[in-house]
Amino acid sequence: MKLREIGEFGLIARIKNSWPASSPRVIQGIGDDAAVSSLGPGNDLVSTVDLLIEDVHFDLSFIEPYPLGRKSLAVNLSDLAAMGATPRWLLISLALPSRLSVEFTDQFFAGMQALAQPNGVSLIGGDTSSSPDRMFVSITLLGEGKKEALVFRHGAKPGDDLYVTGTLGDSLLGLHLAKNLRGRAASPEERFLLERHFDPTPRLQEGQALAERRLARAMIDVSDGLFSDLYHICEESQVGALIWADRIPQSPAFRSLVPASPGEEWKWALRGGEDYELLFAAPPDKAEDLAALAKEWPCGITRIGRVEPRSHGLVVRDEKGPVDPSSLKGYDHFA
Ligand code: ADP
Ligand code: MG
Repeated sequence: MKLREIGEFGLIARIKNSWPASSPRVIQGIGDDAAVSSLGPGNDLVSTVDLLIEDVHFDLSFIEPYPLGRKSLAVNLSDLAAMGATPRWLLISLALPSRLSVEFTDQFFAGMQALAQPNGVSLIGGDTSSSPDRMFVSITLLGEGKKEALVFRHGAKPGDDLYVTGTLGDSLLGLHLAKNLRGRAASPEERFLLERHFDPTPRLQEGQALAERRLARAMIDVSDGLFSDLYHICEESQVGALIWADRIPQSPAFRSLVPASPGEEWKWALRGGEDYELLFAAPPDKAEDLAALAKEWPCGITRIGRVEPRSHGLVVRDEKGPVDPSSLKGYDHFA
């Protein structure tokens, strides 16, 4: 059987099922934005690892080493944000082709540091190897949180409201622009979208506030696309969901530049990955507290739908009715 037949998530499920049940000190193993392990009473360890491969995740003809370093860390910070955890320690493994320059690696680490420092993250180790051809980066990020306050993908209940921070689709459109600029100077709107793609902002303070105040019952970061990431919440929480297409938040720059037919802009916003916004479920009686909290956030929050019973499935509705889900899937590494 070929990997493409089972897909990325089929493979992960296969790996998970081939291992015996984990020890009771594993509070959350495979299946969330980060793992949570108990080290004893008090704080719990929250860990995540990510692999980035040249020509799969990034293309060195479109991204400079400084933003590449910065973004490599940002995507991991986003996974801890989605747990409501506090990031602390960083391990970096690199495989580098010898054609790359020392200035390249200096800039890569400078970019990473620029995001690590203000977030209180220390580099504590890693591993380095040569690579025959492409560059590989693997980042392990460790953080802390208390089991009672952390937010998992499970925990959403029918009747909960679904919210998302910021706007969606900017990153996908930014990537599309980067591939089509061909040396032309970008307009301010284009620059905004390029920045959303190359320099995403992990929603750490927002995730921590939602967790500490017990406002979110389930949460994930939008890395593969809203539809795919909501699907993970539905699977882990054993629920269904309804999304109102016309409520999906879009930035003014996105709206003015998206190459979609009028009324279909939301499809880009729903399918687009790498926005690194937070998607979360909250009970309706928290709506006022949430609105008050989000007033302090530049990114804001938008209510985009509702958690439904499992039997409802995952449904996106536009003004004409339910939308065919096959057009909405996000990224799968083997598909
Ligand atoms: P995210 O997009 O939030 O980084 P992923 O979709 O990459 O999450 O991973 C989903 C879950 O599967 C996570 O718990 C991750 O740790 C786990 N996982 C992914 N690949 C592997 C692997 N090769 N072995 C074990 N667990 C894995
Ligand atoms: Mg994630």
